[in-house]
Amino acid sequence: MSDEERTLVLLKPDAVRRHLIGEIIGRYEAKGLTVRAMELRTIDASMAREHYAEHVGRDYYTPLEEFITSGPLVAVVLEGRKAISVVRAMNGKTDCAEALPGTIRGDFGTQKNHNLVHASDCPESAEREIGLWFPNLG
Ligand code: ADP
Ligand code: MG
Repeated sequence: MSDEERTLVLLKPDAVRRHLIGEIIGRYEAKGLTVRAMELRTIDASMAREHYAEHVGRDYYTPLEEFITSGPLVAVVLEGRKAISVVRAMNGKTDCAEALPGTIRGDFGTQKNHNLVHASDCPESAEREIGLWFPNLG
C-alpha cells in the first residue's frame, strides 16, 4: 500500500491579509509536498457551513463563519507521503498561543480563531474536503 496522500489546506483570510501566502506555501513545498490544485477564493456562509459542517452549532461557530467569509482565502490540495499528518504537524496546535515554535501557527500567530491555516484531519475528511473545494480535480 502506498503512503501517498492528498490533503486539503486553506490559507485563511488572516494569512492572505498578512501577506503570508508565499511564506506558508513555501514551507510546504520545501518540505517536499506537491501543489496539485490552488485557488484564491472568497466563500459565502453556505460554503463555510459545508466546509465546517461538524462545527455548526458550536459556540465558536458564528465568529468562525464571519472570519472564514471575511475575505479571500487560498485553497490548496497538497500531495505527498503521509501528507495528511505531515501538514497537521507543520500547522501546529489549533490555538496559536499553544502551538510550538517551528510550526506555522506557532511562528506567525497568537490567536485561537484567527489561526492562519486549515488542514484535513484524516483520509475521510481529506476526500470530502477535496471533493467540496475542487470537484473537478482528477
Ligand atoms: P483545527 O483547525 O486545528 O482542526 P478544529 O477542527 O477543532 O481545529 O476547529 C476548526 C476551527 O474552528 C479552528 O481552526 C479555529 O479557527 C476554530 N475554533 C475551534 N475551536 C475554537 C475555540 N474554542 N475558540 C475559537 N475558535 C475555535
Ligand atoms: Mg479540524
